[in-house]
Amino acid sequence: MLDASLAKHIKARAAQNDPSYIPSSVNPVTMEEIRELSPGYPLAEIMEQKGWDKAEHINILEPEALKGLNALFTEENAEAIRDKILITILRGYITYLDEPAYREFIKEIMERYGMTEEPDFNTRAYTSARDLFPDSFARLYVRTYLDESVRTEIRQLCQDAISTYEELLDTTDWLSEETRNKAKDKLKGMRINAVYPDKWEDYSMFSVKEDGHVLTARLDYAKAKEQQNIRKMNGTVDKEIWTDIDILETNAFYNPYVNSINIVPGFFCDATYRSDMPIEEKYGALGAVIGHEISHAFDSNGAQYDENGSLKNWWSDEDQEAFSKRVSGLTDYFDHIIAYDDGTPTSGKLVQTEATADMGGVRCMLLMAKKIEGFDYDRFFRAYTRLWQRVESLENSEVSSRSAVHPRCYQRVNVTLQQFDEFLETYDIKEGDGMYLAPQNRIAVW
Ligand SMILES: [Zn+2]
Repeated sequence: MLDASLAKHIKARAAQNDPSYIPSSVNPVTMEEIRELSPGYPLAEIMEQKGWDKAEHINILEPEALKGLNALFTEENAEAIRDKILITILRGYITYLDEPAYREFIKEIMERYGMTEEPDFNTRAYTSARDLFPDSFARLYVRTYLDESVRTEIRQLCQDAISTYEELLDTTDWLSEETRNKAKDKLKGMRINAVYPDKWEDYSMFSVKEDGHVLTARLDYAKAKEQQNIRKMNGTVDKEIWTDIDILETNAFYNPYVNSINIVPGFFCDATYRSDMPIEEKYGALGAVIGHEISHAFDSNGAQYDENGSLKNWWSDEDQEAFSKRVSGLTDYFDHIIAYDDGTPTSGKLVQTEATADMGGVRCMLLMAKKIEGFDYDRFFRAYTRLWQRVESLENSEVSSRSAVHPRCYQRVNVTLQQFDEFLETYDIKEGDGMYLAPQNRIAVW
């Protein structure tokens, strides 16, 4: 009940992924203004107790959410609030509590996502420890399984993709010279975080007491981490340390705040990258992902940040309008896709940034492919397709289609590839075929 009341004041996922969300989320405030916004709920007091009030800059992402929380903070709701706090703490620390508590928790998760197998004890122990000390595990992994040549090769692939993206921008006839040059500046300033960093996170702020309980250790860690964050407050950001990046996580991403692409070994597997893959597979798999991450710098959210990662409008009004028109074409197209027989539509608004990035990534790699004589396009497209091959429960898929910002896996393949002549030509796809999309109906933004 409390959750439902609070949810009314918080922007939904699709609204948070809307381009207008970013400027609306910049709301610098003083401590005095926090007190005014929230006279009942004691946010200002909590911040003072923890030392956060010493921050030079304080931003509130959604002032309406704080006002809503304040309105709900009443005597009448006291019991529900106490329950909510208790449940939140219990869920956060559930893996450190006793076995029956964990069993109840995992049962609910498994039902919701249609999981058939419980994570075993060793996996749970490993995941819990890695969550807290990702860089310790990463250093061990790098020492055991990777060498400098992998990092050199992937860094080069990123560099080549960034240079090729400049050529891609040259092919966009709807951009003015001025905006195009600003976009190129953004590419020139892009940081490449490839494979592993030169500098690692320091965990010396925390040590485990030998005779303590694991839960006590976990609570001590939370305190130490908070103090470390407070020490970092008001300082400069050391961009050599990849803060909050677990390189063993199966992920690759673009960070608009530092203008960096992050390509990490947790993402490498048979389908994504092997050093002995032929070039077509490297381009079709990891290459397309690298291109995807670069494209995020120019999706409707990323495009609002400049080459230094500052929120700044570098677009002319006309170019901005042309860009928005292209994005809404893509959004409309996805809105009309019914993913499953039950009639659940896909939300174009929700998936637009990721779909933009998918298409930009493949276009970038196809431009690189053009420079290679005898390039095997069939091999390239098959490698791209394998990237999104998944076994997924229907339950998980349905949860995802309501809230996930990525299009469904089959859409990432079918909708992306039908935008390109190279694909249609490789498989002799013609007007009247299911995968055919006429040039005037194509929706790739870049
Ligand atoms: Zn993405």
